[in-house]
Amino acid sequence: MLYYSTNKKAKEASLKEAVVKGLASDKGLFMPSVIRQLPKAFFHNISEMSFQEISFIIAGAFFGEDVEADALKTLVYDALNFDAPVVPVTDRIYSLELFHGPTAAFKDVGARFMARLLGYFIGKERREQVNVLVATSGDTGSAVANGFLGVQGIHVYVLYPKGKVSTIQEKQFTTLGRNITALEINGTFDDCQALVKSAFMDADLNAAMNLTSANSINVARFLPQSFYYFYAYAQMLRQGKGDNLVFCVPSGNFGNLTAGLFAKRMGLPVKRFIAANNRNDVFLQYLQTGQYEPRPSVATIANAMDVGAPSNFARILDLYGDSHEAICAEISGASYSDQQIRQTISSVYQTSDYLLDPHGACGYQALEDGLQADETGVFLETAHPAKFKDTVESVIGKKVIIPDTLKAFMNGKKQSVELPANFEVFKTYLLDQ
Ligand SMILES: *Cc1c(COP(=O)(O)O)cnc(C)c1O
Repeated sequence: MLYYSTNKKAKEASLKEAVVKGLASDKGLFMPSVIRQLPKAFFHNISEMSFQEISFIIAGAFFGEDVEADALKTLVYDALNFDAPVVPVTDRIYSLELFHGPTAAFKDVGARFMARLLGYFIGKERREQVNVLVATSGDTGSAVANGFLGVQGIHVYVLYPKGKVSTIQEKQFTTLGRNITALEINGTFDDCQALVKSAFMDADLNAAMNLTSANSINVARFLPQSFYYFYAYAQMLRQGKGDNLVFCVPSGNFGNLTAGLFAKRMGLPVKRFIAANNRNDVFLQYLQTGQYEPRPSVATIANAMDVGAPSNFARILDLYGDSHEAICAEISGASYSDQQIRQTISSVYQTSDYLLDPHGACGYQALEDGLQADETGVFLETAHPAKFKDTVESVIGKKVIIPDTLKAFMNGKKQSVELPANFEVFKTYLLDQ
């Protein structure tokens, strides 16, 4: 399948080119040229199917032309060797728990899939080393670093804002060594993202090394995120709750939400979506005014959503032909302050005995506030609450149980390279490697 750029000025790319390059040459984001409708028969059987079985079928719809079926099956089954259960929180609001992977956040899905797909292309052609640059506000770095750890032919540079990620998050990408390098940037997440973007646009760097991104701008990372919307639907159907479903997505760069919009285009019966934001709410502002005005991010306790210029906004616009009206017909928004997030974590813990993380709390609250009488809501619980231990413990006044997978990271020793938020310095550093 070919991939076009949202800016429409670059030549269409093959899947391999889109994955290896990350961003199109005209700075646009790659979009699949075809969004396949899934056959009716698939939806008849879906409630009987496992996460891996469903994912393999959706993966085939996107990647089946470019990857042999048995290789794709191995890749999917290997990447998604954990569950994504839907759990009731109230009688109308369900949590799609996406934190059962190795780094306890949803980004494991896309990162593990992308690492294997890129590894597949590199291995097939014996290409020279590919360097993955990834900017993180916390969870992307851990998922990508762990997803790519030890993959032959790939080196990963994780850029993260010094002092702005939680200790557990930081440990997850600074303790690995091997083909993973952590770059501690004196700046904000937006600075990290800008450095990565500038690197992709820099002629010298691109002449000297193969660079790609593992942020959700990469199609191999964000498209697999559509898998679990289908799986969530399957589970809701099994419980007789498949009608009038509303998915609510705690959003930062909007990769997760965009993957859901793709699922709907492929025929998934979703009524509508809600994008839940923290105080970084440029998308909500866009919905309300029709004006998209990116601005610097502000730090919140849901830090993986601290994004002031969501990179997938271009994909949403493209998907709806730039129509504000069409976008508003399928997506609404909400925004919550740290104080409100804390309040939600506390009240849901007390009344439903369910422990939310600060991101999932935005999702839950937006359903609580926005669900209509005939609707059932599923919010994406994007991370395990233990990843935000300090915040969550201060709210509920109790210790949070840390999953063993996360505990193991805490014993590792942090190794990072500190750099200023300055492109020339960053460039020189990369060229010296
Ligand atoms: C990355 C992340 C988000 C935001 O996802 P986007 O796809 O960037 O919108 C939300 N919650 C958590 C825990 C995350 O790690």
